Amino acid sequence: VIAIGQPEHSVVTTCAYCGVGCSFKAEMRGEELVRMVPWKDGQANRGHSCVKGRFAYGYSTHRDRILNPMIREKVSDPWREVSWEEAFAHVASEFRRIQYQYGRDSVGGITSSRCTNEETYLVQKLVRAGFGNNNVDTCARVCHSPTGYGLGQTFGTSAGTQNFDSVEETDVVIVIGANPTDGHPVFASRLKKRLRQGAKLIVIDPRRIDLVKGPHVEASYHLPLRPGTNVAVVTALSHVIVTEGLFDEKFIRERCDWSEFEDWAGFVSEDRHSPEAVEALTGVPAELVRGAARLFAKGGNGSIYYGLGVTEHSQGSTTVMAIANLAMATGNIGRPGVGVNPLRGQNNVQGSCDMGSFPHELPGYRHISDDATREIFEKLWGVELNNEPGLRIPNMLDAAVEGSFKALYIQGEDILQSDPDTKHVSAGLAAMECVVVQDLFLNETANYAHVFLPGSTFLEKDGTFTNAERRINRVRRVMTPKNGLADWEVTQKLAQAMGLAWNYRHPSEIMDEIAATTPSFALVSYDYLDKLGSVQWPCNEKHPQGSPIMHVDGFVRGKGKFIRTEYVATDEKTGPRFPLLLTTGRILSQYNVGAQTRRTDNVVWHEEDRLEIHPHDAENRGIHDGDWVRLASRAGETTLHALITDRVSPGVVYTTFHHPDTQANVITTDFSDWATNCPEYKVTAVQVSPSNGP
Ligand code: SF4
Repeated sequence: VIAIGQPEHSVVTTCAYCGVGCSFKAEMRGEELVRMVPWKDGQANRGHSCVKGRFAYGYSTHRDRILNPMIREKVSDPWREVSWEEAFAHVASEFRRIQYQYGRDSVGGITSSRCTNEETYLVQKLVRAGFGNNNVDTCARVCHSPTGYGLGQTFGTSAGTQNFDSVEETDVVIVIGANPTDGHPVFASRLKKRLRQGAKLIVIDPRRIDLVKGPHVEASYHLPLRPGTNVAVVTALSHVIVTEGLFDEKFIRERCDWSEFEDWAGFVSEDRHSPEAVEALTGVPAELVRGAARLFAKGGNGSIYYGLGVTEHSQGSTTVMAIANLAMATGNIGRPGVGVNPLRGQNNVQGSCDMGSFPHELPGYRHISDDATREIFEKLWGVELNNEPGLRIPNMLDAAVEGSFKALYIQGEDILQSDPDTKHVSAGLAAMECVVVQDLFLNETANYAHVFLPGSTFLEKDGTFTNAERRINRVRRVMTPKNGLADWEVTQKLAQAMGLAWNYRHPSEIMDEIAATTPSFALVSYDYLDKLGSVQWPCNEKHPQGSPIMHVDGFVRGKGKFIRTEYVATDEKTGPRFPLLLTTGRILSQYNVGAQTRRTDNVVWHEEDRLEIHPHDAENRGIHDGDWVRLASRAGETTLHALITDRVSPGVVYTTFHHPDTQANVITTDFSDWATNCPEYKVTAVQVSPSNGP
C-alpha cells in the first residue's frame, strides 16, 4: 500500500539492497510510506540512488508476506497458524529433543546478510551460547568468503581498504569480475565521473560490460578472459610488472616482507606465467595484458575493484590473493585513490562477516580457538564456548544427508534457491527433523520447513548495516512491524525459550555489547553514529573518527604478505557434450533471486532472465533471437529465451538469475573454492540447443 498525499514526517534510514549502503529519507504519512528520497547528507551516496532503493520497496506491504507463525509436523502437512509463544516453545523443545537424541552438534543456524548487524550477532550468539556449538554460517559463504580468506592472509583483515570517496583520487582503475553499473549503480556513477575526468580504466571480464564502451566512458583495455582463468591473467599482469622492473621497491621494502616478495617475484617471473605463455589458456591477447600491466604500474594512483566474478570460482581465494599481490607490488595500498575494494553484493554482507557468522570466527574475525578471545565472550555470556570450528553450510547439508545433522534455524536466507546444486540442498533439508525458516515470504526453502517465523523488513526495525567500505550506517524503524516483532526480537524470544537469560530492550543495547567485545567497534554506539552520521570501522581509541582508509601506516597483520598464486584449472571442463561456458550476473532493476524486487513495480523493467549467446554460437545451433533454448549442464537443465549478442565472446553464454523459473542453480555444479567452499557459480560447462519452451 503506497500512501497518496503529502508526507507528514520523515526518517533517515539505509537501503536494504546492495553493498553501497545509500541513505534515504523515508517520507511517511502515518504508518504508510509515501516515497523514498535519497538523502543529500548520506555519506555513501551523497544524495544519489538507483531504481532499486528509490522504487523497489513495495514488497514490504505485498500480499505474499506471511504475518503469523506457522507449524507443521511433516512437510507434507498443511501449515497451521500458531501464536508466537507456541512457535517459540515448539522450536525450543524440538531443538533440545534433537540435541538430546543426536548430540550437541546435530543443530545449527544460518545468519543473513540482509539482516542488521545486531540481528546477525544474536543468531551467532544463540548458536554458540544456546546450541553449544559453532555450527553457524552466513550467505557470505556463497559470495565473498574468498575475500575474507584472501585479504585476511595478505593484509590481515577481511575488508576493502578504501572509502568510496577514494575513487575521486584514482588515476587508473582495474574492474575485475564486477559490473558496477548493474550491481553497484551509485558507486558506478562516481567511477564514471572520475573516468570522464581522465582516469584510465582496465576491465577484466569475459563479457563486454557497459564500462568497456558505454555512454561517455571507454576502457583503455578490456581483457575478455575465458571464465575460470582469473589467476592466470592477474599473475601474468604481475609477471610483466616484475620482469620489466615496474614494481614499487620503496613501498615493498618499507611495508612488506622483502624476502617473501623476492620469493613471489621469482615465481611470477617464470616464463610459464608470461602473457604469451598463458594466451591460449586465457584467450586474452598477450599484448593487451602487457599494455594493461604497464598502464596500471605507471599510471599513478592505481585502484582495483572486484566482485563475484573473482570470488565465485574454485580459485576464488587465490584470485583475491593475486589481486592483493598486484596492489602491494605497485605500492597501491594505504592512501586515497588506491587500494583493493571488494564490491559487496548484499547490503550487510560485510557486517554479517564482521559479526562472527563464520563457524571458525567470533565477532571481529578472531579465531574460535583463541583462548583470550573466547574468554571475553564466556565472561559476558556466562557460558563455556566450544573451541572447535563448526560446520559450514555445505558441510551441514552433507551431514544431514549422512544422518548426523538434524535441525537448522535459517534467518533471512533462501538456501534452496541461492546455494549450488539444488538437488543436494533439497536432499539435505529433507533429511532434517526440524527446519525453521524466518523470512518475509514462504520462500523455496520453506517448502522443507517445519516452522515458519515471519520476518520483518528494514522499514520495521532499528539497527545498523555495514556497507562495502566498512561504513556502519543506521537503520531506523519507520513503521510498526506488520508481523508484530522485529527479527532481533524473534531471535531473543527464541533464546529465552531455550533458557537463555537475554533481556535486550533495544538494538542499541546489542550494539553496546558488540562494542564491548569487538575492538574494531569499540567506540561505536547509536549516539555516536547519530553524531557522526556514520562511521567506518575500525572505530576505537586509536581511530575515534573511524578509518576511511586502512593499512595507512602498516598492514593490520604487520608486514604485507606476498603469496604465490599457482593457477589450477577448474575440474569443470568443456567437452563435446558441453562445449560452452556459462557465467552469470545481475541486471540493474532486479536484485539477486528477486524475492523482493519481483514483488515491486520494478518487475516491469525485467520480466524474465534471458540467455546471452554470441551470433556464431547461435547460428551454429540454428537459434534465432528470442527463440526458446534448452540450457543443459552435467548437473541439470532449464529453458530460457535466447538473446543473441556479441557482448559475450564465442564459447561463452551468460544469464541473470532473478527469476525462480530460470533455475540457474539447477545448472551450476558443486565445485567450490578450495579454501572457503564458496561455490563456483561463474564457470559451468553447458550445451545450448533449440527448444519448444518449458
Ligand atoms: Fe544505493 Fe545499492 Fe540501494 Fe541502489 S541498491 S539505492 S546503489 S544501496
